Amino acid sequence: MSTNPDATSDDFPWARDWPEITDPRVRAAFARVPREEFVDPALRKWADRDAPLPIGEGQTISQPFVVALMTQALQLQPGHKVLEIGTGSGFQTAILCELTATPEGVPGETVYSIERFPSLAARAREVLHRLGYRPHLAVGDGAAGWPEAAPFDAIIVTAAAAYLPRPLWEQLADGGRMVIPLGARYEQTLWLLRKEGERMHRQWLGPVRFVPLVSPILRDPAMRVEMSNG
Ligand code: SAH
Repeated sequence: MSTNPDATSDDFPWARDWPEITDPRVRAAFARVPREEFVDPALRKWADRDAPLPIGEGQTISQPFVVALMTQALQLQPGHKVLEIGTGSGFQTAILCELTATPEGVPGETVYSIERFPSLAARAREVLHRLGYRPHLAVGDGAAGWPEAAPFDAIIVTAAAAYLPRPLWEQLADGGRMVIPLGARYEQTLWLLRKEGERMHRQWLGPVRFVPLVSPILRDPAMRVEMSNG
């Protein structure tokens, strides 16, 4: 088992259903990462459906289309440093590794991902390593970010937050992009945020439903950033 180096950029189950995903590098990444490796063997027959699946601990591997939409919005380039909150299965992490890989480097060396559940982080690490990816993985509250590795060219939050965590906004590089679902327990809005100096530009990407970002630090109002207009 391995990634598929010979795959054409439309060699994935959902290729014809995704006219919105126009970035050929994003499509090529989906052709290379085998989603079935990131789900339990008993669920593997469902892995080629464009739907979320359970991964244990009450969490889910995201719907592939949502992974693609979020990834495309980040406009990742080889060598970009990217932070993911919510490693979960590791599937999104692998996509990030593909898009930031450089010809001379090891795929994943500029990818950082944080997961709350040690069990999920351990399983994701095992699969990612088996497939040849070497992202930096940590267990903890991702809302605190990864200050030692900041600033990041891109940040992707794959769990739903009630507030934009201040540490993440502060750890985003000038000119950087962040994708984050913000809202209530069962319904959120997916936002693309861009940082330009002190300014926040925001773009609505659509309605989504993610599992919650569980973060004690967000109980402190000082840890939240108010969303500005425009
Ligand atoms: N990208 C993953 C999504 C998994 S679901 C995938 O496609 O497989 C979201 C994940 O975020 C869950 O695994 C959940 O445990 C994790 N999570 C929730 N709150 C978190 C927090 N504060 N810090 C880190 N991870 C968190």
